[in-house]
Amino acid sequence: MGVKVVKFGGSSVADGLQLAKVKEIIESDPERRYVVVSAPGKRFDGDSKITDLLFMCKAHAEHNIPYEQLLQVVTDRYSAIKYNLNIDVDLEDAYKEIKAQMNSGCSEDYVASRGEYLSAILVAAYLGYDFVDTKRLILFDGKGRLLAEETNEALSEELSKHERAVIPGFYGSIKESDEIKVLSRGGSDVTGSLVARAVNADIYENWTDVSGLLMADPRVVDDPKPIENISYMELRELSYMGASVLHEEAVFPVRLSNIPINIRNTNAPEDPGTIITTEKDYKNDKVLSGIAGKQPFTVITVYKNMMNKEVGFVRRALAVLEDLGISFDHIPTGIDSLSVVIESAAVEDHLDEVIDAFNHRLHPDEITVVPDIALIAVVGMGLSHSVGVSAKITKALADAGINIRMLNQGTSEINVIIGVESKDFKAATRAIYSAFVD
Ligand code: ASP
Repeated sequence: MGVKVVKFGGSSVADGLQLAKVKEIIESDPERRYVVVSAPGKRFDGDSKITDLLFMCKAHAEHNIPYEQLLQVVTDRYSAIKYNLNIDVDLEDAYKEIKAQMNSGCSEDYVASRGEYLSAILVAAYLGYDFVDTKRLILFDGKGRLLAEETNEALSEELSKHERAVIPGFYGSIKESDEIKVLSRGGSDVTGSLVARAVNADIYENWTDVSGLLMADPRVVDDPKPIENISYMELRELSYMGASVLHEEAVFPVRLSNIPINIRNTNAPEDPGTIITTEKDYKNDKVLSGIAGKQPFTVITVYKNMMNKEVGFVRRALAVLEDLGISFDHIPTGIDSLSVVIESAAVEDHLDEVIDAFNHRLHPDEITVVPDIALIAVVGMGLSHSVGVSAKITKALADAGINIRMLNQGTSEINVIIGVESKDFKAATRAIYSAFVD
């Protein structure tokens, strides 16, 4: 029998109604043997996510503000699910333990992790699967970095003892001290990916509340088409530029073992969703896979005659950023000019320092600063072998009366990055989308 790892996000486990759908999905396919769950998320607009409430409990405790009522809201959510679905499980001891730990000043990570912990205990009992805790299985070093290989071995060894299991997302522990450590927000996606690698799954299904990725942000483009198949590399480009369906780091573990990810919708299980595969398994005959954008960026351009002949110029420019701890996104260069494109939030407090240091170390003829630039990534494996892609983009923007401030064909050849003024962002995205999609 094959093995599928299925991960259900916060909205899929938000209440009894959603969990009943989860059970149906799992039971409809016996290969869905390893289930990773998030903590319950929002049930409706304005509702709270359990993880947010847990972080709030800890913040209250730190400021000596009573947190018991908040914690009660959390435990009531689990108890309501338990009673609604008539799940035969005793959560009282787990609640008591959390309260005791809170009273003895436990860490923020411990408290935050309890959302997934309780969720997995509950779901395991509901499905009749084993509960497998990720403490001591997902391992971090003392600096909080994931120990990928040791994690893979530990998970793989433990899961080989369980035919079917429910596993909490989002946390593991520091190997040396055994202390609970959480991943960054949305990290249950990463847990799912680690589990998929560890059990060598045929597929990693990531169940959420949308039927996969769309070719553009629906808040910008009307009714964008769904993406059926996308490569890991393209997904990485799109998520970095703001398309958010999956945690950015969830790609790495499965990519190592060529396991495809299928984004599915718990509320529309009949939809095929988006399949994310390696480049070689990729089946998409479209030139464009998707468009995503991010803003605001600041572009600092240094002009100097004969810059291209000056050995070490770029290194000295980048050393300025390194010394100030600023990371940049792009460095387009011309013969006599160099631009650095930096997220505005990262540079705005240091702008004067950067300009002083550029003047001092590079002796430029001129420096210009353009704030408020939006970057649009046009992503597609087909871009590299299609003639006239840049022309199509520039024509679409020219026809829409939009001035291009920067155009950078990525060296990976799967993306073209266009910089426009932030005010033109939406119109530019729509113009490019219409140029490629009919
Ligand atoms: N519950 C965690 C969060 O809200 C992790 C997750 O859902 O993936 O960030």
